[in-house]
Amino acid sequence: MIIPVYARKNSRPICPICGRKGSIYDTSKTRSWRHLEGFGVRVMIEYAPRRVKCRCCHKPVTEQMPWNLGKCRLTLPLIHQLAFWARELSWGQVARLFGVDWSQVKAAVEDAVQFGLERRDTDEVTLLGIDEISRRKGHKYRTQVYEIAEGKKRLLWSGEGRSKETLREFFHYWGEERSRRIQGVCCDMWNPYITVIQECAPQAVIVFDKFHIVKHLNEAVDKVRRKEAAILQSMNDESLKNTRYIWLKNPENLTAKQQIKFHQLAAKNLKTQRAYEIKRAFQAIWDSPDVENAEFALKQWFWWASHSGLEPFQKTGWQLYNNKEHILSYFFLPINNSVVEGMNNKAKTIIKRAYGFHTAETCKLALIHCMGNLELPDIEPQIHK
Ligand SMILES: [Zn+2]
Repeated sequence: MIIPVYARKNSRPICPICGRKGSIYDTSKTRSWRHLEGFGVRVMIEYAPRRVKCRCCHKPVTEQMPWNLGKCRLTLPLIHQLAFWARELSWGQVARLFGVDWSQVKAAVEDAVQFGLERRDTDEVTLLGIDEISRRKGHKYRTQVYEIAEGKKRLLWSGEGRSKETLREFFHYWGEERSRRIQGVCCDMWNPYITVIQECAPQAVIVFDKFHIVKHLNEAVDKVRRKEAAILQSMNDESLKNTRYIWLKNPENLTAKQQIKFHQLAAKNLKTQRAYEIKRAFQAIWDSPDVENAEFALKQWFWWASHSGLEPFQKTGWQLYNNKEHILSYFFLPINNSVVEGMNNKAKTIIKRAYGFHTAETCKLALIHCMGNLELPDIEPQIHK
């Protein structure tokens, strides 16, 4: 079904830049826009747009049409629908649902994202959470920058890679003025990020994320366990076999069976047991009543880790101790990336349902579209008075 649209006689075209009425410069060829289906029939709108010459904007431009957004050959209501569903489903599914091409879904998302970004308010962004995710099973990394203030969780930016250059790209995009407003950044103990944050937002307090520190400590425990298990195995002792999760969990979360095993192992005076206790002891730093006590606890912990004779803990211990200001800063700015964890899981789902995304560009587009809390173009056509 083709709906031809004509401009009213003597009507004056609207300038898309300033929204004011101007005079007709000339009339372009007839174009068509794909509209929402009606009664199972494909609907097209046809119209010959005029070029408008307005007083303030000088150069003649194509007039503003209430159903049009940029160069997209889809109507606004259709863009809205495609973009809306593209937040819930894969683009392939959306394309099948509406009988359009994948590339048209992509175009609709692009327009919606551009629309949303132009209206996004970022004046009050003061707390950032920075983390990485992998695209394509650990081969490609992306750096995700989130806003983590209470009640304002959203993805602000996403970029390919996890190097200094990647994060510099973000700060370049964010600009000096907005960067100056950043008060705190929560991130992993990852030197390229730290360097760039200090360089581009020197006033911001860097806080190492608890979850990530625990992850590093767990990795150190697991290294000790693997090494010790291999040694025990060579002596036909299989007591450490299948115990990985026992050492990763907190004691109160162990199953009854795991608890029995845990107590049996405790009697054996294993290196893994010691590693586990060092890991657990780190919690005391965060549980300290104030920063002075925390600093003292950290010193004690570091002494223990570095004198433990367990190589993975010597390494992690030094790493943490060298960065102690970013651990103790938690007492001045108690932020963590628990919000980010949930968001990252969502990002992984989005990447997974698209089978990994073939280009970094589409990946970025989909992530910011689904997680940026952006406003969608209105389903009601925008009519300038
Ligand atoms: Zn104008």
